[in-house]
Amino acid sequence: MTRAKKYHCGSTDGKAPLKGDPLRNVKSRYDLIVIGSGLAGLTAANVIAKAGFKVCLLEQHYNFGGMATWFKRRGGHIFDVSLHGFPVGMKKTCRKYWNQSIADSIIPLDGVSYDNPQFSFDIEFTREDFTRKLVEEFELPLEKVEGFYQHLRAMNFYDDSRETTGEMFEHWFPGRNDVHRLLMEPISYANGSTLDDPAISYGIVFSNFMSKGVYTFSGGTDLLIQEMKNELRRNGVDFFSRVQVDRILVKNGQTRGVVANGKEIAASAVLSNANIKTTIAKLVGEEHFTPEFAKGAAAIRLNNSSTQVYMGVREGESIPFTTDLLFTSTRKTFDSASLCDMQGESRTFSFYHPKTRPGVDRYTIVSSTNANYSDWKNLTDKQYEAEKDLLAERTLHCLEGYHPGIREKLDHIEVSTPRTFEFYTQHSAGSSFGTKFEGLPFSMDLHKQVAGLYHAGSVGIIMSGWLGAANYGVIAANKVDEFLHSLRGVTA
Ligand SMILES: Cc1cc2nc3c(=O)[nH]c(=O)nc-3n(C[C@H](O)[C@H](O)[C@H](O)COP(=O)(O)OP(=O)(O)OC[C@H]3O[C@@H](n4cnc5c(N)ncnc54)[C@H](O)[C@@H]3O)c2cc1C
Repeated sequence: MTRAKKYHCGSTDGKAPLKGDPLRNVKSRYDLIVIGSGLAGLTAANVIAKAGFKVCLLEQHYNFGGMATWFKRRGGHIFDVSLHGFPVGMKKTCRKYWNQSIADSIIPLDGVSYDNPQFSFDIEFTREDFTRKLVEEFELPLEKVEGFYQHLRAMNFYDDSRETTGEMFEHWFPGRNDVHRLLMEPISYANGSTLDDPAISYGIVFSNFMSKGVYTFSGGTDLLIQEMKNELRRNGVDFFSRVQVDRILVKNGQTRGVVANGKEIAASAVLSNANIKTTIAKLVGEEHFTPEFAKGAAAIRLNNSSTQVYMGVREGESIPFTTDLLFTSTRKTFDSASLCDMQGESRTFSFYHPKTRPGVDRYTIVSSTNANYSDWKNLTDKQYEAEKDLLAERTLHCLEGYHPGIREKLDHIEVSTPRTFEFYTQHSAGSSFGTKFEGLPFSMDLHKQVAGLYHAGSVGIIMSGWLGAANYGVIAANKVDEFLHSLRGVTA
């Protein structure tokens, strides 16, 4: 195997140099400025532009998509960062708020599998198959399983339930760590939630995610984002990459626009897709909020981060199909904290076959683990490289159990860490999935503190993931739309 000698590292890689002024074609005033091109920011921009308003979207990175992005490497490799799987609801969201072509490219994964010391099987990720597994493999009474589903369905977002997911599992399936693992492990990878998070967040995500299979975007993230950019262009959105928003301007309790790359751009409304804590503390400034709000926002806990190992299969080589998405662990039992262990025993493998990008006969494999930023942040350069090498080595060792001889087929290996995520997305502590549940009301109530100020993006667990983020973009856009119409009413 020709293994890449130096692993790529976001924190030292540096961004591509600016070619000219990225904002040379920007207008001086817009109805809405969107900060960030994550799926929430992109979707909100599209919805507002379709409603007839002038929208400008500013992204600090050279690529769009935020976490939903991709990168290319020598050897013809294209790596997707977060295209592992999402719920079928994404099809409807894309049809309604993007276009039919994007929706039509959303296709089901062919295989999802678990492999750990407690159980190993393929699963369709449908409600029926979960029921079958729980009854036949885990030998639970059907009434118990149905009762659990009913309990989840009856959960109401506005209920003030303090029950945690762990407590709820223990209530329904006492002492059944294997069942807890089946129900929780994929969701922890999908949105960083733990057994200690509120059961309500689990209920909402479970109903979306684990009912009708797992889906992907045929053509890869690069095609998705290209199609989204085409749609934004058709709807008249001005969008710019390599533009750092430094400040959201506020005067007399009202948003006035932003300062980006040192330039002032005026807007009636601003929607931030940056992290909610960063938005409040850095982009706006705590002085523009009530002391209680600012204090509450400062106390919001961030969600965990991730590491990934990207593995490129040499051109001309192939790997046999085993599954698309594999949740694997060598840990005897399940607990949330260990999923974030620095050199842990649990990971997911996403296998990208040629069907990911029809017409391109290439294979890549991406291993993902949840991770704690604190484990990685203070390492010296030497320690950092050593830990990344170790992670790559352990991942390869695990992968060989499923694909013997895989090392000989790879010609590119690269590791990303919480530091990489922080560098590329500017999320504090490289948070992959926004904030814990308590972040949601702060995100939703920004406009009550500063007129014309909105937030959309991974927050509060339930608004995380591809579907959660895109849908939150729509929810926030509806509020922006109402606000902008109210201004038109005033000036009419
Ligand atoms: C490793 C990993 C795997 C994942 N796997 C899945 C999966 O399989 N399925 C799934 O559904 N979800 C998955 N997710 C989660 C999903 O990708 C995210 O929840 C979703 O893409 C987040 O979208 P967002 O709108 O919150 O914005 P983000 O993706 O967080 O993007 C925010 C954008 O704002 C930009 N920005 C921030 N500050 C500024 C500024 N000051 N000026 C200009 N621009 C700024 C950033 O550069 C970034 O582009 C995964 C995430 C990770 C990290």
